[in-house]
Amino acid sequence: MSEKLGTAERPLRVAVIGAGPAGFYAAEAMLKEGYVVTIDIFERLIAPHGLVRYGVAPDHQNIKAVSKVYDRTVANPAVRYFGNVEVGKDITHDELKRHYDVIFYATGAQSDRRLGIPGEDLPNSLSATEFVAWYNGHPDFKDLPVDLSCEAAIVVGVGNVAMDVARILAKSVKELECTDIADHALAALAKSNIKDIYIIARRGPAQVKFTNAEIREMGHLEIADPIVLEQELKLDRASSAAIEGDIAMQKNLDYLRAYAEIGATGKPRRVHFRFLLSPVEIIGQDGKIVAVKMEKNELRPSVSGDIKATGTGKYETIEAGLVLRSVGYKGVPIEGVPFDKRSGVIPNEVGRVIDPETGKVVTGEYVAGWIKRGPTGVIGTNKPDAIESVNSMFEDLQKGKLTPAPEPDPDATPALLKARGVRYVTKDEWKLIDAKEIEEGKARCRPRVKIVEREAMLALLNGAS
Ligand code: NAP
Repeated sequence: MSEKLGTAERPLRVAVIGAGPAGFYAAEAMLKEGYVVTIDIFERLIAPHGLVRYGVAPDHQNIKAVSKVYDRTVANPAVRYFGNVEVGKDITHDELKRHYDVIFYATGAQSDRRLGIPGEDLPNSLSATEFVAWYNGHPDFKDLPVDLSCEAAIVVGVGNVAMDVARILAKSVKELECTDIADHALAALAKSNIKDIYIIARRGPAQVKFTNAEIREMGHLEIADPIVLEQELKLDRASSAAIEGDIAMQKNLDYLRAYAEIGATGKPRRVHFRFLLSPVEIIGQDGKIVAVKMEKNELRPSVSGDIKATGTGKYETIEAGLVLRSVGYKGVPIEGVPFDKRSGVIPNEVGRVIDPETGKVVTGEYVAGWIKRGPTGVIGTNKPDAIESVNSMFEDLQKGKLTPAPEPDPDATPALLKARGVRYVTKDEWKLIDAKEIEEGKARCRPRVKIVEREAMLALLNGAS
């Protein structure tokens, strides 16, 4: 039976779960291979593009341009879009199994890792994941209580997300107003009282996770100086040895050294880089954050070859009223799908979902992107990652290892959703929202003015129909 799959008379029916970069790169790869494939992309939100819309910083529009490639993929007649449909709630895993030969998970990493320290749940202690979603106009985070009335903020972690959130806090309204930052965030940032932003690294300057472009940008902010303490840039022997020949890390260090040399030039805001500090307590008073207590660390090479931070028993306290924890994203489980709680990914082998209990491949189920490999890499990293998984799928198709869906009727999904009262959004409807946002942006020097709330998007569509 399965040899007929992928032909004009019996196209391979694939459900892609998640309309972010990994989902789109997977769909693009499926359409290139020479088999006849029809793809239904399911997305929990109304808008597609995942992290490109809701994660990438609004002042990094060049990265967002990649969404044009995704739009070309979804424009293919073999691809349908079901926005505003949550798998596990609006359509179940069993229903997908009934109507699709393949389920392809590309749900990303929607949650965050925690520090596990006292005070972490105080008001204004936020994960960078939430803060990023807030300023990017994610519908679920519009009402996040962000209080910018304090004078100092602490960003924990030294990855690119930490750099993004620190930069957004450090920029002037003038630097942000011609981006697609959400209106509510721009209004709040315009009233921000924050002058000092501390980026806190638990290890040293030779172990930062940010990339060259992000540290370079810190030297070009209109109203903020990067501040680096020269004494914190001294490298221990193991760190020096570890970065030998690492050109990117040497460049990072060059920028940090240059900032240490230049020092403060008198701009009204400052982005401080601090090293070898681990937050041990977020201190609150009358329900508000007032400071963060940090333990000073030293570096020790571990048996695995990593250079690890170890507490010295000495402490330092930095006063601040806002804490952004930027210590990594984390995947969330999908009902009915295997999940490794520790690593936050769907267990897989070269993209084939594995049942952890039996250790066997789950027939017809694949995974791509952050939910496959964890939250690492830039947007483009998801392309080869998705292609690898799609290749596994086609290899299985070729070897007759896929089980045809019992009810492959393409009309079954829209009928099921309609019967359930699920207001799904099609690709043509998304185009209307997209066009409206872009049109609104034109009058305001902006690439688009995001419509944030689900209801506002649906009202626009219902008004147009
Ligand atoms: P990341 O690069 O993994 O950085 C996480 C940071 O958190 C590291 O500095 C890590 O330090 C620190 N950390 C982890 N646990 C900690 C703890 N308990 N206490 C203190 N610090 C802790 O993650 P990310 O910044 O969330 O970025 C995720 C991915 O998206 C990355 O691949 C990033 O490059 C990418 N991204 C790219 C861009 C861009 O291209 N412009 C923008 C945003 C994100 P250790 O190293 O010591 O563990």
